[in-house]
Amino acid sequence: MKKEFVISIMVFICFMVAFIFSVKITETQNNIYIRQNYIQAAEMRENNKLAIDAPSEKALEYQQKKVNIWLSGIVLSMLVPALFLFTRLSVVLRNWAQSKSRFAIIVLILYFSVYYLINAIISLPLDYYSGFVLKHAYGLSNQSIVKWVQDLLKGLILTIAAGSVFICIPYILIKRSPKYWWLHMGILLIPVIFFVTLITPVYIDPIFNKYQNLQDKKLEEKIYQLVDKTYMKDVKLFQVNKSEDTKEMNAYMTGVLNTKRIVLWDTTVKNLTEGETLSVVAHEMGHYLMGHVWKAIIFGGIVSIFIFYLVNKSALWILDKSGGIFGFNKLQDIAAVPLIILLLTVYTFAASPFINYYARYTEREADRFELELTRDNEASMSSMIKLHEKSLILPRPGLVYELWNYDHPTFEERVNFADKYRPWEKNESIKYGKYIK
Ligand SMILES: [Zn+2]
Repeated sequence: MKKEFVISIMVFICFMVAFIFSVKITETQNNIYIRQNYIQAAEMRENNKLAIDAPSEKALEYQQKKVNIWLSGIVLSMLVPALFLFTRLSVVLRNWAQSKSRFAIIVLILYFSVYYLINAIISLPLDYYSGFVLKHAYGLSNQSIVKWVQDLLKGLILTIAAGSVFICIPYILIKRSPKYWWLHMGILLIPVIFFVTLITPVYIDPIFNKYQNLQDKKLEEKIYQLVDKTYMKDVKLFQVNKSEDTKEMNAYMTGVLNTKRIVLWDTTVKNLTEGETLSVVAHEMGHYLMGHVWKAIIFGGIVSIFIFYLVNKSALWILDKSGGIFGFNKLQDIAAVPLIILLLTVYTFAASPFINYYARYTEREADRFELELTRDNEASMSSMIKLHEKSLILPRPGLVYELWNYDHPTFEERVNFADKYRPWEKNESIKYGKYIK
């Protein structure tokens, strides 16, 4: 192992420790801000019904636990591949897989399946705590342990199946074009993400929950009236029985081409008034009309090219400087899979604030469209308040947590925007008039 390599590992560890501290400090500051500011909010609420209520101690506590889980998850996601490399477990696993087959692709699939399974077992306690124990402890879950285990197993089988096929792509590309595989990989990823987005709503999502037409026909009619006010064509509407899993509410737009659809969680339909549901649908229509799914696919491909480029550069540097400590010295060696996974994790972590920044921009524009279409600021505000408060989401989190986790503007920002954005009252022009008849 060369000196530069040891130093860079130490610098990275120091950076991660500093990062964890910065998360903790900004969360503490944020708690102080919330405790001071939202007492006044409670008083304001007496005059104005639509204000964010002071978050409960339970919500503040829940945020702290979510932060700790997130940080533990980051550490674990980097520690597992690092352990595979430094203990040479990766080489042991590769040798075992090679003893089972002569075909490189089969060896790779065997290697990946076992690797992923070990990773899933190590992550299981944290997944169980965050996905089941905590959600129940805070009254956010309706899920039975049987359904949780079923979903976990289905997810595991799907990931191993899809991952095994997918992992062959970089492997073949690295072998064929060791210098430019990262570029080919990024470009190839665009049709791959496109295909996954195309089939997911029809073939993957129904594996986990039941999708059906909106049950409330009166609401459905109102939604189609709203759709008729825009230039939107062939909109498909679905409701999903999320109430068997959760008490939280949500809605989303998904799919491309003929699988494009707006999906409402049944919890949303049950808990929101008609006006509030229409606001939520209008937001999703904004994503639909502005082609945000398409844009996210292309944006994802471009970001991937950068990430794969950095992965390639760093992997070659590490292989050069590590002096064979991992028991292999070529990137096309199957034992190098954890190295690629580790670097992908590190660079995706580094890119998260940029990806989220873009996502928050699209969400803000969907909120803007929602208001321009419905012009019902009160319904937008009250739906947002209900959606967030029911999920124990704080008006805002600490800054570092926000940069890394928030793909929507904060609850506070969204409610303020819904309150203040009223250009039609001042005879100003609206931004998305081109989508509205
Ligand atoms: Zn959205």
